[in-house]
Amino acid sequence: MPKRSRTLKLKAAKRDNFTCQKCGFQDKTMVKIEAHHIIPLYLGGKDELDNLITLCFDCHHYAPDKPGEFKDYMGDEMEGRLTTLIKAWEKVRNEQPELFKEGSFSKVEKQQQSSSKMDKTELTQLRKENEELKKELERLNSMRKNQMGGMVKKASKGNLVTRAPWGYEIKNKMLVPGEHSYQVEEIFQDFLTKNISLTKLSKKYGFSVNGLKKILTNFTYISKIKFNNQIFDGNHPPLISSTLFNHVQNKLEKLGIKPNK
Ligand SMILES: [Zn+2]
Repeated sequence: MPKRSRTLKLKAAKRDNFTCQKCGFQDKTMVKIEAHHIIPLYLGGKDELDNLITLCFDCHHYAPDKPGEFKDYMGDEMEGRLTTLIKAWEKVRNEQPELFKEGSFSKVEKQQQSSSKMDKTELTQLRKENEELKKELERLNSMRKNQMGGMVKKASKGNLVTRAPWGYEIKNKMLVPGEHSYQVEEIFQDFLTKNISLTKLSKKYGFSVNGLKKILTNFTYISKIKFNNQIFDGNHPPLISSTLFNHVQNKLEKLGIKPNK
C-alpha cells in the first residue's frame, strides 16, 4: 500500500500501540511496521486513520488487496509472524505444487536453476536446428550448382549452344577452336596495348563496335560459360589467358565501356 502520510502512519501506530494487528509483533522504532490501507486507495479507500491498520512488514507483504479477503486474512488464526510466512508459503504450495515436490524450499531453487538450464537447452537446440537448416540450404545450393554445372557441360558441348562464339566452331557437339581462333588473342592484345579506338579496331577486323564489345567481354575465350547470370567452368579449350582477359576487362572499365548484354 502506498505510504501517503507519515503523520497518519504515526497516528495509526500510536493507536495500535506500535503493534502489528495481525501477528502481534511490536516495534516502537516503527522501522518494521507499516500502515496498511484496509480499502486500497485505488479502490476508493481514503487516506484516513479509520482506513489504516498497523501491520508488520511480513504481514503487510502478504496482505490481500481486496477488503473482503483482507478481513478473512486478519481473521486467520495466528501465532506470531511465522504463521503469516508459513501461510503465505502454503498458499504458494497450493497454487504451484510442482515447486514443492520434495517439500523443501531449496527444491524451489533447484527447480529455478533447472528451468534456466532448460532455457539454455532450448537455446542450444534452436541453435543446432539453425545450423542444420543452414547445412541443408548449403546442400541444396551445391546440388543446384551441380545441376547447373551439368547443364553448363551440356552447353559447352554444344547441346545448348546454338551458335559458336567468333573463333570457335562446333564439332561433334563440342566447342573447338575454329578458323579465326588465332585472331582472338590478337584482338585482345591490340585493344590492350595499342592506343586504338573501338571503332578503328572493329573496322580493322570487320566487326560492328557492338560485335567487338561482345568479343572483348566474352567469357567463353577463357574456357568459362556464362549461364543463368553465373559463370561456370566450361569443357572447351580457352583461346586466351585469364590474365589477358582480365586486363582487357579492367581497361574497358576504365574507359567506361560497358559490356553488351
Ligand atoms: Zn505481523
